[in-house]
Amino acid sequence: MHNISRRDFIRSTVVCGIGASVLSCQSNIRNSRQKKTRYIAAYDTESPDCLAACRKIVEVHRRFEMPATFFMLGRTLDANPAEYRELLDDPLFEIATHTYSHRMLRDNDFCGSAISLEEKRKEIFKGKDAVERVFERPCIGLRPGCGFDNALIGEPAVLELLRQAGIQYVSSLLWGPDYSLPAMLREPFNYKDEGFPEIWELPGHGWHENLLKDHNKWGPRRLTLWPSPFPEAIAGGFCKIPEDEFNINRVFLDRATESGKSFVSLIWHPWSLDKFDPDMKMLELTFAHVRRLGLEPCTYARLYESVSGVAKL
Ligand SMILES: [Zn+2]
Repeated sequence: MHNISRRDFIRSTVVCGIGASVLSCQSNIRNSRQKKTRYIAAYDTESPDCLAACRKIVEVHRRFEMPATFFMLGRTLDANPAEYRELLDDPLFEIATHTYSHRMLRDNDFCGSAISLEEKRKEIFKGKDAVERVFERPCIGLRPGCGFDNALIGEPAVLELLRQAGIQYVSSLLWGPDYSLPAMLREPFNYKDEGFPEIWELPGHGWHENLLKDHNKWGPRRLTLWPSPFPEAIAGGFCKIPEDEFNINRVFLDRATESGKSFVSLIWHPWSLDKFDPDMKMLELTFAHVRRLGLEPCTYARLYESVSGVAKL
């Protein structure tokens, strides 16, 4: 019901002019019509410790009736297929792919260099296949390992592989400008300028929460921009208690709501959440705040349906 009709498109084209600004202008028009900002809980599920963590996470989701998208690493899924199927096979959850083994689909300043095109093909196809084989339902979304600061702009070869695989959305914009954090509250866009108008980019926002807790053992790094476009979102140090993490989360939730963004989704990892907060207090605090703000919880697949207009729900 929030899709842009042809008439709205023509109107927005006239109002906004044809060019790079049309998409953002359309987003503004859509936002003015869509009253509620959506909230997506999403998990990059990628290590052996994620299974025990997901058991706790799923319990909180069922209690709050909160949907989620699980971006599953194929290798992780293949290690425990029956367990993950039993745990996550629920209409509340979307299962998407986090590639097969977390190798880089393009160069990333922190995570390393891109692999070859043939290896990228395997990461994409094997990752999607693992989800579809285990869950026996279509996998339409992919979040590449680590993500990038410029999404997949300028990577037509990767986009072509995604098209061939039948991937309909990617969530690859996971960093701020110049590989900084946090990732800004960027809106969805499609890859029409790269020749792939049918593939959508649905970014992730905020911090990679594992870095807020030094779980990668990176220590101090040059992660933030100066001057900062979003200084309130930069903590004074590593998180010590779940409330510290929640206080950062709420900066993004509040800002997205106040500024009428179409959605907000933070970048979470089950293994890291459990290591820091085994009682999952941060999840409870965050979901309660989502309800308090009146955000509309959904999955990335639902957001994709809404922005692309492929399904009318
Ligand atoms: Zn990952």
